[in-house]
Amino acid sequence: MSIPTITLNNGIEMPQLGFGVFQVPDDETTTAVAEALRVGYRSIDTAAIYGNETGVGRAIAESGIARDDLFITSKVWNTDQGYDSTLRAYDDTLAKLGLEQLDLYLIHWPAPALDLYVDTWRALERILADGRVRAIGVSNFEPAHLERLIAMSTVVPAVNQVELHPAMQNRAVIAANSAHGIATEAWSPLAQGAVLQDPAVLAVAQHHGVSPAQVVLRWHLQQGRIVIPKSVTASRIAENHDVLGFDLSAEELTALDGLERDGRTGPHPDEFNG
Ligand code: NDP
Repeated sequence: MSIPTITLNNGIEMPQLGFGVFQVPDDETTTAVAEALRVGYRSIDTAAIYGNETGVGRAIAESGIARDDLFITSKVWNTDQGYDSTLRAYDDTLAKLGLEQLDLYLIHWPAPALDLYVDTWRALERILADGRVRAIGVSNFEPAHLERLIAMSTVVPAVNQVELHPAMQNRAVIAANSAHGIATEAWSPLAQGAVLQDPAVLAVAQHHGVSPAQVVLRWHLQQGRIVIPKSVTASRIAENHDVLGFDLSAEELTALDGLERDGRTGPHPDEFNG
């Protein structure tokens, strides 16, 4: 079964299920991404700060998969925010990945105390206008950051990638994204494993004969979100890709909705400027 796509607000198709590589050392990244590509993932999510764009690029080059069949995302880090520095950071990211164009480039955090995300966004708009990226977006933007960005710029972000899992459902951000036609992409979609032993998740998994991770990913996908689970374990890489052969009922979706407990694992975007 092929992975469904989400049509972004500029018409670009993005796979709804991709593969994340946060916290994977560069040398291990090539092996993990190669395995992901082998089992069928075509979308890879990296970032300059992960220090593994070179490893991702190596796996892409060695895969033999046509560039047009891949969807590659990276992100500009906080210390590179600003117009000129973002243009330089983008060149560096492309060089490390060995690519001439990304599919999606994101502002990694709003870092509001820096007060540079509007300038940074203008650089992304420039890169987009020059045809050097297919879509631009943001990450960890709260509704107020989105409102300000949209009021002060031309291009509405295509994607907002935010922490989102059953324990932290980020509903106000999803509502703001929807209101602006911005696709919601869930980072830490499995809460880094923290929700996988929850009795409600285990009960649904047992009912369908699937794993807890598959239940959680299915819950995201059935609600139209983009997900990018990470694993360095071959069996889990395959398991997380095999999530299209069953459907959760409305009652099961509601049961997972009930797991919200303000369980944020990362920093709050209003406060993180590092
Ligand atoms: P995930 O929610 O994807 O969880 C990853 C963890 O869960 C790893 O410890 C992994 O273990 C484990 N795991 C994966 N699959 C399974 C499974 N089937 N069963 C049991 N355990 C499993 O967390 P991440 O924080 O990595 O988020 C995913 C991606 O989101 C990142 O890789 C990154 O691309 C992006 N991200 C973006 C952020 C941002 O600020 N924009 C912040 C954080 C993440 P193992 O690897 O050992 O198999």
